[in-house]
Amino acid sequence: MLFSWFELHHKSIFPSEGSNLQTILVGWATAKAYTRRRMKLLYRLLSPSLHDSRKPSLKLNIPKTVLRIVLICESLGLRVSEGDSAKGDPPPSSRETKPPPRAKKRRFAPIKIANQIPMRRRKEIEKALGEVGESPTKWSRNGGTKNHVFMRKRIKPGTIRHMEYDLLDVEIGESWPVPISVIHGSRPGPVVTLLGAIHGDELVGPLALTYLCGPNFMGPDRVIDAGVLAGTIRIVPIVNLPGYRRMMRDFPDGRDLNRCFPGKPDSNTTSRVAHKLWSKLISTSDYVVDLHSAAKGRTNIPQIRANLAHASSNRIARSFGIETILDSEGPRGSLRRITNQEDIACITYEGGGSDEADPESVQISMYGIINLLRSLRMLPGYPSKPRFRILASGSVWIRSDQGGLLDVLAPAGSFVEEGEIVATITDPELPGVQHDVVSPIRGLLISSATHPFVNSGSPIGHLLPVKRGVTTLKRRLDDEGCLIISGSDGEPPWREDEDIEDIAVFGEWSGGSPDAEWGPAGSSTDEEEDN
Ligand SMILES: [Zn+2]
Repeated sequence: MLFSWFELHHKSIFPSEGSNLQTILVGWATAKAYTRRRMKLLYRLLSPSLHDSRKPSLKLNIPKTVLRIVLICESLGLRVSEGDSAKGDPPPSSRETKPPPRAKKRRFAPIKIANQIPMRRRKEIEKALGEVGESPTKWSRNGGTKNHVFMRKRIKPGTIRHMEYDLLDVEIGESWPVPISVIHGSRPGPVVTLLGAIHGDELVGPLALTYLCGPNFMGPDRVIDAGVLAGTIRIVPIVNLPGYRRMMRDFPDGRDLNRCFPGKPDSNTTSRVAHKLWSKLISTSDYVVDLHSAAKGRTNIPQIRANLAHASSNRIARSFGIETILDSEGPRGSLRRITNQEDIACITYEGGGSDEADPESVQISMYGIINLLRSLRMLPGYPSKPRFRILASGSVWIRSDQGGLLDVLAPAGSFVEEGEIVATITDPELPGVQHDVVSPIRGLLISSATHPFVNSGSPIGHLLPVKRGVTTLKRRLDDEGCLIISGSDGEPPWREDEDIEDIAVFGEWSGGSPDAEWGPAGSSTDEEEDN
């Protein structure tokens, strides 16, 4: 059913007639029967330059990831392709009104280390960053660009190949082919591998990578243009395709691929898959980005996890352009940990929860990947950077002291004060009785429970205690007290690295790693990690 008020009122909602954006929005609104308020807010979100008022809240939950494609394209100066076959025009001239980014003062500015990271860890990070060497000679432009050889295929410079990659080597039976796109640039440079859905039920990565491989972002005159690219990008939107098809985190043999690296060629099924990925795809990469979401029953705000004492991982963790970076090595057998041990850069992006397509997390990860590629000078253009970064080496848990049904008042992303009520718990057997869950400390909630069933001791939220930089952080809160993450509000700014305030959160990861304390008692800590 079409909303007739839309025909009546759309002039008051859209002041300027005839824009591409308006046409798309009206089409969506009529098709999806959006309310007028939501459409107004959406319009403001998509074209912030037309409105002086502050950005609408992130928690409007505008459920269409695809609408964010319009936003990302607009901010990158690209016309939106309305069909898979549509080809975009050159960037519209209206983008020229935006002030051009300043030239960089220093090409290799020293990386700051927040001064409140624990001294021992700080020394490790400083030592590692001091060991950064020169770029490998294979990235030099002197020798020209060679073919990229992958799976015995030669990919010519300046071309894109979409192919299939067998997770298992068999002559008969299931080989589990997964799609992979290889974009081999016309100029030499590093090899970046982007992976989604190592856990088959985490769908933010597959969505972001699928959109990046689509006509809006890849091809001539698009952001990822093989004719302009320096280096090679390999994209696997869904690594665990067998799990994805079953809507499951693990492989069909019940194992978690992200605990099986580097794998063995003669061991169990998942270990064989890990070994093949490791030897053919990961060990031949210079940078690896692994996209994840929270495990079942919780949700994460967009965040990067990286071993900050690994120099090149530290660099790409910062280049992603978002605020929250958790300093951790990753669980045993995880891709990040093993890749770093071989001195290959690897970061994990976490956003949203499993079995959901959180549009904001998809959007932020797409911006983040473009930022990272720009920072590595593989793509032209300046990466955007956040106003501040929280470099966290520890966290605090908020737990329920009662059993019952949970109602979360402060979702992931909220900045909460000490003593603030973050959730309430009621018991269906005792109507009218309610217990409050309060935050033990002031900080940023990076994860919160989404399953309402709780017992005494169940984790409700995962909090980064913020002691310094509170004023800076509060300036980036929306009306509901949630952090507006860089890249979520349309036009990520460009700024000098030295203008970014580093806010250190010190402490320890209870249980040894960021997610170790989630989940029901009795299960092994490894199984409770999101990544
Ligand atoms: Zn995961």
